[in-house]
Amino acid sequence: MSSFIELVDVKKVYGSGTAAVRAIDGISFTAERGEWIAIMGPSGSGKTTLLNLLGCLDQATSGAVRIDGTDTSQLRRSELVKFRSETVVFIFQQFHLVPHLTSLENVMLAQFFHSMTDEGEALRVLKQVGMEDRANHLPSQLSGGEQQRVAIARALVNDPRIILADEPTGNLDAENQRIVFRLLSELHSQGRSIIMVTHDENAGKLADRRLNLDHGRIKETLIFSSDENQDFDEVLEHLWLRREERDHNEDSGHMETMDFTQVQWRKLIATLAHIGLVTVADGHENFTPAGELRARNVIRRHRLAERLFM
Ligand code: ADP
Ligand code: MG
Repeated sequence: MSSFIELVDVKKVYGSGTAAVRAIDGISFTAERGEWIAIMGPSGSGKTTLLNLLGCLDQATSGAVRIDGTDTSQLRRSELVKFRSETVVFIFQQFHLVPHLTSLENVMLAQFFHSMTDEGEALRVLKQVGMEDRANHLPSQLSGGEQQRVAIARALVNDPRIILADEPTGNLDAENQRIVFRLLSELHSQGRSIIMVTHDENAGKLADRRLNLDHGRIKETLIFSSDENQDFDEVLEHLWLRREERDHNEDSGHMETMDFTQVQWRKLIATLAHIGLVTVADGHENFTPAGELRARNVIRRHRLAERLFM
């Protein structure tokens, strides 16, 4: 049995010759039915291109994109359009509602393009996203968060196998981000497959799995044991305290009380550098922004614990 979604050495090149851009540069992965995958990575790393390949909005230059047994890279244009409408839906950052249609009509339009309209069913999905009392409002009469909920209702109404979301909360405030993530969590618990592009670390943690893209490739995902993570936290804490001492011109000698041998310390620093938490220059360790954030959390946790036990 093959996987629900299976990508084999997929490449997508835009343009040709010296102007060629390798937006996706050899990606392979599989996903099972019902999985929630977060695609993360810096701007320009190929996230949207990958999502568009999965969503049959575009076809790979080479490699196979198999969805539920169908290799979409082999389909003709008209077959691709049909396959897409039966298989996937998109939720975009810009909600893309039709401005002169009401919430209800926007949802029914999606039904119309798919098969046939059913007002009762359209109202039911609007209710599912908490928008039934806005059924007759135009998009311009709705807040951004409400528009995104209508867009989610529109996505759900044809019961898609796969939901693709490209930074679905990119234009929303914190409260509406929470609402959208709660809706996605519900859809996930109903067994739907979700593939979501996001910049949000916390959103990434809601997913079952994360794919980190970099220059059109999947960055190796390293997984560490909790012991190793504890060691990392301890090293980060030492670095933080040492910096505090330096800033305050004092020396309490805490580095002498460390549990690591010099060899262990050097190894740990090398690992932290490799996973992007510290940089080393002239024998001095400095935090990267990610390292700084993690160190601050370690220190905060530690000091809170100290206060609680006092
Ligand atoms: P992300 O969503 O991670 O920001 P994209 O998938 O949009 O990245 O883009 C990946 C790379 O492909 C970028 O260098 C971008 O400029 C390029 N690219 C995307 N779409 C096109 C296109 N239609 N034509 C040419 N280059 C493109
Ligand atoms: Mg993008």
